[in-house]
Amino acid sequence: MAAGTRSTGGKRTVAFSRDQANVFFHVLTACNLRCRHCYIDPAQHGDRTLDADTAGRWLQLFAGPGKSPNLVLLGGEPTLHADLSGIVRRARALGYASVTIDTNGYLFHDILDRVDPGEVDFFSFSLDGAGAAVNDAIRGEGCHRRCTDGIRRAVKRGFGVSVIFTVSSINRHELAGMAPLLEDLGVERFFIQVIGLRGASARDAQADRLQVSRDQWLETVPPVAEDIAARGITVSYPKVFLEEGERFACAGRVADNYFVFPNGRVYRCPLCEDFPLHSLEIVDGRLIQRPPINEKDLFNLTIPEGCVMNRLVQPGNLAYLADGRPAWRIACCLLKEEIPPGDVLK
Ligand code: SF4
Ligand code: SF4
Repeated sequence: MAAGTRSTGGKRTVAFSRDQANVFFHVLTACNLRCRHCYIDPAQHGDRTLDADTAGRWLQLFAGPGKSPNLVLLGGEPTLHADLSGIVRRARALGYASVTIDTNGYLFHDILDRVDPGEVDFFSFSLDGAGAAVNDAIRGEGCHRRCTDGIRRAVKRGFGVSVIFTVSSINRHELAGMAPLLEDLGVERFFIQVIGLRGASARDAQADRLQVSRDQWLETVPPVAEDIAARGITVSYPKVFLEEGERFACAGRVADNYFVFPNGRVYRCPLCEDFPLHSLEIVDGRLIQRPPINEKDLFNLTIPEGCVMNRLVQPGNLAYLADGRPAWRIACCLLKEEIPPGDVLK
């Protein structure tokens, strides 16, 4: 996401940068699973599967001379796309700097045999529990076994493998158990996410209780991240809570990220994806700016709580002092802390 980093002990805050664009490209929205916190909403993101030619033309809109973005291919489950390997090759031919495929681990259409480690930098697998009981309660029966099988096969084929774990109040106690599992599986990178009240989570009858408090986050995530990094795995996790004196920055203003959906919507902020607030749209093969009011108008607002969209859609992670001031500020959801392998927090 960024070239610059700011270091405190072993962890580094990955600074936003306009020099390296990141394209998060949803090739379809269909999925074989129904995860409890899925953020895909067909009413907002459509139910279309982009054919490889269209995907290639859309990918061209973000690449070109002097532009070599990173690409993350997503769904739904992107390996349900019958020609995902063709899309990977088009991206490579267009000069994308890196290609990652995010997957739930089912690896449809023999995708591991249809692309090479030289074409796909990482397969990124989603696991939400160290064991099957918690993971499968969130993601579906049999998911843990299929996903860990998929990870082993991907590692054996020589692919870089990362794992994404979305922390909520129902699985935060599983995080510590991820360290030995990731080590055993041969995972190179571990991404910890925080549950966002988006998509299915926002509609969950227990939505308010899914969010983790500041205390729960701080007592759980940094120590586990340290333990996992000490085992030789790069760990990154969202900053979420800004410390006193830390500067707030909105990625929508100072970074170059594009979240592309198969209905043509292009967002600059993931927290806006539940709403028709996209600032860009692909219409007849052209990327056009949308008129106000859209997410860009929100990026320019300054509030004492930090992120405007967080204040609007998931204010449960805020608290206020007796005089009405927020007790802390919420960082941009895209601001990450990273601990390189072997480093520990001081
Ligand atoms: S695997 Fe991903 S796209 Fe599919 S239901 Fe789960 S979160 Fe949603
Ligand atoms: S999450 Fe908040 S700070 Fe980040 S891009 Fe969206 S509105 Fe801006």
